[in-house]
Amino acid sequence: MRFETSKVLDAIERRLCVDPAMARAVLDLSEVVRYQDLDQGRPASMLRLGMVVDALGRQLAEEDVPVYVVLPRALLSDADLTSNERMVARRWADDGVVEVVPQMNDRVLEVADILGLPVLSRDRFEGFRGSYPWIGDPGRVVAPVVGHGGAALVARVGGGQASPGAPSQAGVRLMSRMWRCPESPCASFGGADGGDSFFADLRQPEQESRPGAQPPPTLRNGAPTCPRHGARLSDAGPRPAAEALAIRVGGVVRQRFVVVENEPLEVGRAPDNGIMLGQWLSDEARKWISRAHVRFDLRGGELSVTDVSTNGTGIRPGGSMDEDDRLIIKRKTRALDPTDLVELYPGVHVGRARNWSSGGVSDPVSVLTDAPTMSLRVVPRS
Ligand SMILES: [Zn+2]
Repeated sequence: MRFETSKVLDAIERRLCVDPAMARAVLDLSEVVRYQDLDQGRPASMLRLGMVVDALGRQLAEEDVPVYVVLPRALLSDADLTSNERMVARRWADDGVVEVVPQMNDRVLEVADILGLPVLSRDRFEGFRGSYPWIGDPGRVVAPVVGHGGAALVARVGGGQASPGAPSQAGVRLMSRMWRCPESPCASFGGADGGDSFFADLRQPEQESRPGAQPPPTLRNGAPTCPRHGARLSDAGPRPAAEALAIRVGGVVRQRFVVVENEPLEVGRAPDNGIMLGQWLSDEARKWISRAHVRFDLRGGELSVTDVSTNGTGIRPGGSMDEDDRLIIKRKTRALDPTDLVELYPGVHVGRARNWSSGGVSDPVSVLTDAPTMSLRVVPRS
């Protein structure tokens, strides 16, 4: 049993993410582990995080939806959790895949404000509406309740699904810079003497953060501050712009990825260094799509696509599926408007991630499924 729990915690870990471009919702772990009505079990259980993560995936109809988890330091020694759960939480905290704060205060709301994320909470936050007026917007505060197969999410306002809003103006300013913490090691804001590398040996390659993936600082008396250490952060220069894109194959969002300013990224059947589509393609699509088919490039805030394929690339302006609107580029570059889609083959599209509010997956794989079953989903590279 304990063995399986560890595997479930590993599966949950793959869904934890403080990358501002990838996280889809934010929650307070100390609240979620105490949703005892979800399973009628122990006073606190980390598996309830898995139930809430599953509920978010089902609501957004997408695989591998990541959440931004904040927890108060006291949870790391909470005797209601098992020693294994506490150990795992400490490792997550040290690796920086979750955010630890001395006290919660309104940190979850602040993260949601800065990044425009929905909040998963049973709290109605009535006392915070003055500071965060978006609390009253549809889909911004979504309550995990008892539902089909564990947990379900119910929006406090509007009754719809968890949905992002616009980042606050203060948030946009904060996120335009990189920040550095004087404490070392600091998993979130690099240490004064390269503290970032302290845990580098322990990290799995897939956890390596991209440039600019740094989470949002907290504001104390208007000054950017490390949420974990409470130390004033120094400005470490401009943050590279980033744009989250998604790959949709046959109406299903298969993968989200981030294009970072001045770091061109190739997408194709099996590019040497880029985003690989091969495992999701039909035989016909595999024959048509080149190993490296298109290259995405973000410069000066403008996203462009360059065809590097044998057969050419379709552009669907404004996402139009009307064949008369479809353009073909071959060995050419084209700027992408916000709702334009890139078509590598009929039904194989890449566009800005926010264009798709539903991932099109009717029954996403649960993190509570044990690991051996999940490993069967990995298709070998070819
Ligand atoms: Zn710090």
